[in-house]
Amino acid sequence: MELDDHAEDLASDLGVDKEEVKSDLQNLVEYSVPIDEAKGSLRRKYGDGSSGGATAPSTKDVADIDPDDGNVTVSGVVLTAGKRSIRYQGDDHVIVEGRLGDETGVIDYTAWEDFGLSPGDAITAGNAGVREWDGEPELNLGESTSLSFTDDAPEIQHEIGGNARLADLETGDRAMTVDVAVLECERRTIDGRDGETEILSGVFGDESGRLPFTNWEPAPEIENGGPVRIENAYVQEFRGVPEVNVSEFSTVTTLDEEIDVGADTTKMGVGEAVATGGIYDVEVVGNLIAVRDGSGLIQRCPECHRVIQKGQCRTHGEVDGVDDMRVKAILDDGTGAVTVVLDDELTQDVYGGTLEDALEQAREAMDQEVVADRIRERIVGREYRVRGHLSVDEYGANLDAETFEESSDDPEARATAFLEGVDA
Ligand SMILES: [Zn+2]
Repeated sequence: MELDDHAEDLASDLGVDKEEVKSDLQNLVEYSVPIDEAKGSLRRKYGDGSSGGATAPSTKDVADIDPDDGNVTVSGVVLTAGKRSIRYQGDDHVIVEGRLGDETGVIDYTAWEDFGLSPGDAITAGNAGVREWDGEPELNLGESTSLSFTDDAPEIQHEIGGNARLADLETGDRAMTVDVAVLECERRTIDGRDGETEILSGVFGDESGRLPFTNWEPAPEIENGGPVRIENAYVQEFRGVPEVNVSEFSTVTTLDEEIDVGADTTKMGVGEAVATGGIYDVEVVGNLIAVRDGSGLIQRCPECHRVIQKGQCRTHGEVDGVDDMRVKAILDDGTGAVTVVLDDELTQDVYGGTLEDALEQAREAMDQEVVADRIRERIVGREYRVRGHLSVDEYGANLDAETFEESSDDPEARATAFLEGVDA
């Protein structure tokens, strides 16, 4: 039977225009949808009562998929495909996540069934669900999706595979491949979802930057210090910064050549850094405009190490506080502001004394605020270069400082340059 005859059949069955049916049919067949499936789909589209009257999903280019589309039929090339285990309603499921591309764009997908997708596969997904994630459409490929592999891959601009540099990784990335040096690595025991389990955590580096990682099934190649290639890693936010996750489905191989780790940190304006939503290793320069309450001499809970007020821990009630020092200070560079957090060591540096010195000063004054006051006098109004981990949440932007140094730029020269800028 020719396409023309199939169209004739359908048109008379459904009482619709033959040319219209034929062009739809041609479209589906061009996407390698088997003729019987194509006819079934058109019967549903044109409302043949026998099939329940559900509307057939429309065929769409990737760029045209809208979060409000219930279901679509879409063709493209699998760019990445990464397995991950998730716990859903009490059961473990292995899902495949990645990106699909065509001539018009790229879309994230999640496959809830094992369709055997691999990077480079050209596919047509009939009746793929569309859901919204973070304002963007995403495809759900499930048991009601008819997935077929096609021979003619569309011409696409996008690179197949998930090769990336650390600086390019973002929270939500799946199936990524990175070549990295292992800068820090420790074995830890954690309370996992199935009880105590051992993991590796540390820091990866490449020429573009550094990122923390968690390796959920300790890989000797990582524990031995690398360098390693990691395939099928995913990126999740942890404590406000992106983290590379190496799972049971990731492949870890030792590399022969060394990985150059960039000595330069990413330098950004404060506003630009905050706009990233969190960045592991960043350097900013700005004016220290205020030292916030809760700085100087503080007490922490002996159980959970959180800061306590008047001997009360929010979780553990009345406790014997442990003395400690920290600074929370606001740094502003004109493009934005962050709260810089200094740990005990950096705080002792800016205070100019030890914890014992601070305790003695507070005892003599019968007021522990004198410690924060002295720190205020020493740092407010000066310019600092701060390197550390930036996290951003609904309460604001915090920069956990690793280094905190008075900017070596000549303030007079900068003031002159600023005034010249104002004059111009
Ligand atoms: Zn506590």
